[in-house]
Amino acid sequence: ADWGGHSGSRLGLDIGGTLAKLVFFESEVCPSWCTGRFAEVIKGLGKSKSENPASADYGFSRQGSFWGEQENELCFYDEELQGYFHFLCFRSEQMERFVSLIAAQELHHDIDEIFTTGGGAYKYAALFSEHLGITLKPVDELGVVVKGISWLLKRPISDEVCWLGEEENRTNKTFESECHFIDSSTNHLFPFILVNIGSGVSIVRVDGTDKFERVSGSALGGGTFWGLCNLLCPDCKDFSEASCKAVDGDSSSLNLTVEDIYGGDYELEGGRKLPGSLVASFFAKAGRGGNLHDDAALLHALITMVSQNICQIAFLNSRIQGVTKIVFTGNFLRQNQVARQVIATNMRRVTATSQQGKQLQALFLQHEGYFGALGSFLHNVE
Ligand code: ADP
Repeated sequence: ADWGGHSGSRLGLDIGGTLAKLVFFESEVCPSWCTGRFAEVIKGLGKSKSENPASADYGFSRQGSFWGEQENELCFYDEELQGYFHFLCFRSEQMERFVSLIAAQELHHDIDEIFTTGGGAYKYAALFSEHLGITLKPVDELGVVVKGISWLLKRPISDEVCWLGEEENRTNKTFESECHFIDSSTNHLFPFILVNIGSGVSIVRVDGTDKFERVSGSALGGGTFWGLCNLLCPDCKDFSEASCKAVDGDSSSLNLTVEDIYGGDYELEGGRKLPGSLVASFFAKAGRGGNLHDDAALLHALITMVSQNICQIAFLNSRIQGVTKIVFTGNFLRQNQVARQVIATNMRRVTATSQQGKQLQALFLQHEGYFGALGSFLHNVE
């Protein structure tokens, strides 16, 4: 493995339909002028304007401008490789500004090529070659995601894979307190169903690093949520703000529940029942002139609707495939407590009420949106 090569070999890119994800390896063993500079610039991107006045030049504020953010909490030091992995994302449509930044900071001089996944590997190929002389080398999307997951799960990281406990009190419990980590370096996860929730959803059966098959998908994904969010809550310009607001939302004024229809739980034959709190129809109450001016309620309903639908498709595919572990990834889950909780709770409910098969387990990964970029990066060094 070449961990100390030129700068291009220390980058991985995933340019998706909504977000561009960048992974950058900062080697302590073979630092070079360019990689040192790259790390410096990338680390600076995560800082606010007051911490890093230069950031103003590139429009680093979150509101509608260049950057998403550098994910400081995802950055880790790898003892064996002796270096830091940095993670950064920004909106794909800002690619021209990203290329200008690379050119202005002269970071491209010893980069010939970057392994890149996602549609942007094709869409932005000419931009990179004309302005930076860099060749974007396209790599297969699902293959790199699986590669990235397999590789990261073999690292001695204790807090990558988690499942969520029962939700007891939505207002008082934080995400961390409900998260139970699994040591993935000793318990390998194969086979599992991978549900990658990006702009759209891909569902993949994964039996090993090189053995996987796309089995299903859905066009009702993170992009659907974000698009509807912009239409219904135009004041909410930031994804993190939207997902945080949703946590306190009460969508009972919008969604029609089993209780609204039956006055309580609905008893099914065989002693099973549909709980009164179960949503029977999302947004149906808005059809009766329900309250459409409560952003938190709207956001809660939107996230729940998208997450529950994906969970149901994931459940059915897991049953068809006879696989009990379901791993959810993709940036729709990024800092999205409501989505994770809805998926975890719903998965428990559907497997408990289904009469056949074993309990299915919904698992979440901390680097959820970065496996494509990480897998692309690994193409350079393996
Ligand atoms: P893609 O590769 O299709 O861009 P991602 O895995 O990056 O997919 O996920 C994109 C989704 O992540 C968006 O549709 C949205 O739901 C969510 N998301 C998370 N952070 C942001 C952000 N800062 N801006 C827009 N969407 C975001």
